[in-house]
Amino acid sequence: MIYPIVKYGQPVLEESAREITDFDTPELRQLIEDMFESMYAARGVGLAAPQIGVGQKLAVIDVSTGEDPAQKIVLINPRIVAREGAQTGEEGCLSLPTFREPVTRANKVTVRARDARGQQFEMTGEDLLARALQHETDHLNGTLYISHISPLKRDLIRRKIRKLQKAGEWG
Ligand SMILES: [Zn+2]
Repeated sequence: MIYPIVKYGQPVLEESAREITDFDTPELRQLIEDMFESMYAARGVGLAAPQIGVGQKLAVIDVSTGEDPAQKIVLINPRIVAREGAQTGEEGCLSLPTFREPVTRANKVTVRARDARGQQFEMTGEDLLARALQHETDHLNGTLYISHISPLKRDLIRRKIRKLQKAGEWG
C-alpha cells in the first residue's frame, strides 16, 4: 500500500526512531514492500520510516528510481562507521516538498546495518548513494537536511512553510 508522506512539522520527523528487534516477520517484510512502493509513488530515491509516520529505524534507498532492482537497499538500525572526503550538492526531501538547498556531506561513507532477516552487513557508497545513505540515516536519528544548512536559510524555509500551513497548503 502507498502511504502518504508525513511533512515537516510533524514531531515524528524530529524524534529518534526506535531500533528494530524483531526480524524476519511478515509485518516487517510488508512494511519494507510498502515503503518501496510509497517511495516510488513519490518519486524519491530514499524514504525513512518516520516519513510514513512509523518511528522505527528502517529506511529504503534506490538511486536508480526503480530502473535497476539490484540497487534496492534496505537499511535497518543503520550507523555510519566511516566517512571520507566532501561533496556539495542540491538536496531535497519528500517531507519538505518544493524546497532544495545545497548541502555539504561526506563524499564516501560506510554504513553498518541489518537486513530484513537481521543479518548485519556493511556497505560503502559514493556520490549520490553516499548522500542518500547519510540523509536517510539522519532521518532515523530525527535529523532533517535543513539542520545542515545555514540558520538564515533554515529560518527562511520555516517561514515559508508556516505561511503554507496557514493557507492550508501544507499537509
Ligand atoms: Zn528526507
